[in-house]
Amino acid sequence: MKEAACDVLVIGAGPGGYVCAIRCGQAGLQTIVVDRGPVGGTCLNVGCIPSKALIHIADEFGRIAGADGQLPAGLSVTGLRFDMVAATEWRDTLVARLGDGVKALLARSGVTCIAGEARLRDGKSAIIQTRDGPLMVTARAVVIATGSQPVELADLPFGGPVLSSTEALALDHVPERLAIVGAGYIGLEIGTAFAKLGSRVAIVEASGQLLPHLPADLVRPVAARLGELGVAVHLGTTALGHDAGKGALIVSDRCGTTQQIDADRVLVAVGRRPALEAVNADALALVRDGPFLRVDDRCETSMRGVHAIGDVTGEPMLAHRAMAQGELVADVLAGRRRRWDVRAVPAVCYTDPEIVTVRRQPADPEQETVSARFPLRANARSLTLGAGSGFVGLVARKEDHLVVEAHAVGAGVSELAGQFSLAMEMGARLEDLAATIQAHPTLGEGIAEAAAAALGRPLHA
Ligand code: FAD
Ligand code: NAD
Repeated sequence: MKEAACDVLVIGAGPGGYVCAIRCGQAGLQTIVVDRGPVGGTCLNVGCIPSKALIHIADEFGRIAGADGQLPAGLSVTGLRFDMVAATEWRDTLVARLGDGVKALLARSGVTCIAGEARLRDGKSAIIQTRDGPLMVTARAVVIATGSQPVELADLPFGGPVLSSTEALALDHVPERLAIVGAGYIGLEIGTAFAKLGSRVAIVEASGQLLPHLPADLVRPVAARLGELGVAVHLGTTALGHDAGKGALIVSDRCGTTQQIDADRVLVAVGRRPALEAVNADALALVRDGPFLRVDDRCETSMRGVHAIGDVTGEPMLAHRAMAQGELVADVLAGRRRRWDVRAVPAVCYTDPEIVTVRRQPADPEQETVSARFPLRANARSLTLGAGSGFVGLVARKEDHLVVEAHAVGAGVSELAGQFSLAMEMGARLEDLAATIQAHPTLGEGIAEAAAAALGRPLHA
């Protein structure tokens, strides 16, 4: 068997793995990154980027087609048609361009990229099945960055009309009747997009709320918009199976009443689980938190020299957190004194309207707080975008006005995520946010307005 040795072996070239590898290479560490698929991982190839491209196309189409029966003022349209194949080609071009960029960055950092599946032998070596046969790599340190895969339901196994997000994002047509199981990030983002493109969408959610991990008032505008788009929402409902003959999803509500929902395609989006089987993580008997790998504040697992980053380490399963963990591990391996000391990991839901939430870490549920909200109907920029629903909210520690939570729901509010995170990383007080001059007219004015309101001196509301 061929053999290779290096300082760092990174398994998985998703956002966690490739960022870690680039930083290791830049630090002068001899680094090998291995992936069985294309570089960029879930995020670039079948996740963040393809889904946001689809959402953009659907927004544009929906706006022009008047998906909710309303065209923007002054517009009338005839002969509009949607070409899914052309849209997919455009998206694939973006993905390829970004993938080429990642490959170039890895090469420039002196990282060796190997295509193949890695299987750990122990904490210092792995066998990679490459196209040219097996290769044994030994390393001073190993980074497990193998990401996650969709959870499958026993009664709705993937295959045929039952799709995971990967197949849903690869469809070459707009399904006529799309049922979605799970009203989390994926179900709502993809479901809203297909509703705008003309699918009849039904969403089935086991809990009593859409996006159950978020406060109800942040979700309300999203629920209202789904109603405008004609999306049927079934809360407190679970899926029992799909009857392909009838083209129906069989569901049961809390009272046990069964119902059939017309569906020629069913997207199952009920969460993701760590991808640890193929890499043979069991061989290392690493300590777990549920199905995920437990890591310390240097992203080290229970075995010295074996680190883990990204989705394999559990929630929040977000690309930017994986990247931050990747940088952290590279610094640790390069001998720098680093630990996970992050105040804010923003989360954005690209629904219509968008939702952004940032909570200062570590959270202290006992502390007394003050809070305020600024409605976007009083924000000129939101109105000129043809929106005007939603709000910007701030929560601060009562004793010193330290901002501990920031959230917003409204058109375009994803772009506030950076301001929210920066405020928390810098330890901003309400007074800092109220005194920061925001450009007019921008959505950011809502932050200063919410801060002023929390200080008891509201301006425009
Ligand atoms: P991954 O990106 O999953 O990469 C892991 C890599 O490891 C893969 O390339 C895989 O091929 C490789 N691999 C696995 N096992 C082996 C092995 N044994 N040998 C070799 N290679 C292996 N997050 C956001 O922050 N914003 C979003 O807008 C967003 N949208 C999303 C939309 C969808 C539809 C999905 C599914 C996810 C989305 N996410 C989003 C989540 C985001 O994609 C993940 O959090 C992120 O990709 C995790 O990065 P990672 O590096 O941990 O793993
Ligand atoms: P999720 O955890 O966001 O939502 C899953 C939903 O399915 C929950 O609402 C849950 O109550 C529901 N559910 C679970 N079992 C069910 C059942 N049997 N029947 C009906 N409903 C059921 O998971 P997801 O949407 O699959 O997304 C996975 C992960 O991907 C997320 O945790 C997130 O970290 C990441 N992601 C992020 C973004 C983003 O940042 N914008 C976008 C997409 C995905």
